[in-house]
Amino acid sequence: MKHVELASGEKVPALGLGTWKMGVGDSDEAAQLRALQAGIARGMTLIDTAEMYGDGRSEELVAKAIAGQRNKVFLVSKVLPQNSSRKGTVKACEASLKRLKTGVLDLYLLHWRGSHPLSDTFAAFEELRAAGKIRYYGVSNFDVDDLDEVEKLAPKAACAANQVMYNLSDRGIEWDLYPKCRKSKIAVMAYSPLGQGGLGNNRGLEQIAKKHQVTSAAIAVAFTLRLPGVISIPKSSHEKRVLENAAAADLVLDDDDLARLDKFFPPPPRKLPLAIT
Ligand code: NAP
Repeated sequence: MKHVELASGEKVPALGLGTWKMGVGDSDEAAQLRALQAGIARGMTLIDTAEMYGDGRSEELVAKAIAGQRNKVFLVSKVLPQNSSRKGTVKACEASLKRLKTGVLDLYLLHWRGSHPLSDTFAAFEELRAAGKIRYYGVSNFDVDDLDEVEKLAPKAACAANQVMYNLSDRGIEWDLYPKCRKSKIAVMAYSPLGQGGLGNNRGLEQIAKKHQVTSAAIAVAFTLRLPGVISIPKSSHEKRVLENAAAADLVLDDDDLARLDKFFPPPPRKLPLAIT
């Protein structure tokens, strides 16, 4: 499994599992558990969840998936902006830990910027870290100017990751956010690497997929993983698809593939507003 090195030197899997919309409604829980557990067994041991997903039910599903194998997993969750006050962040984290049936989160992110001062959220993150309840913290949906602020507030290299939308159809971060993160040693977590499913069935990808004997989805995920320092977190509720996506971890796109992808999905011609779900 390909890895990404955090600023601390710790290596984490570059390919993980998303969980948005899992554990909710009348979804087939057994199938979803099989999907997550197949991913873990295949080395996709970074799991991304959030208190927002299904109002905590995704975290509860993740707890079931990792039962008995917590130590294999790099567990990521997120605090909602409206909860990200100094006290609210600590409370939200404790509730996530309870739902996830674990004593510690590996990475805790601010889901997106809200009205609470960032300094309060970071103070809470530092408090949680000192208490051993989180190991790393970071942000999500932060553009370059937001990260400039983060760097003024947080201790050097304390912001471990920035989770943002990145896929073939939304390549805006390549212009300036990705270079900024590299320079600041902030890992980029690419969310919606399949364009929320649209890239799983894309004609522009079919030929490259055929050449590598994988699915279009694997090509889309491999595209995000080609950049150093990028972690990709495709979501699937189906074991078969999780395993298709897992193929991306070992796939190397050559210059010819990348030129072809640039033709179908052009890189950003200028600074674009950060794409947000
Ligand atoms: P995604 O991973 O790009 O796409 C998920 C969709 O693709 C689902 O509909 C899934 O359907 C389908 N899919 C998965 N594998 C496939 C395959 N091999 N072939 C065809 N279709 C396939 O979208 P996402 O869920 O938005 O993003 C991934 C994760 O990033 C989320 O789950 C979440 O953890 C995180 N995220 C974070 C933020 C944020 O603001 N920080 C925002 C969005 C997402 P099935 O499940 O039915 O297979």
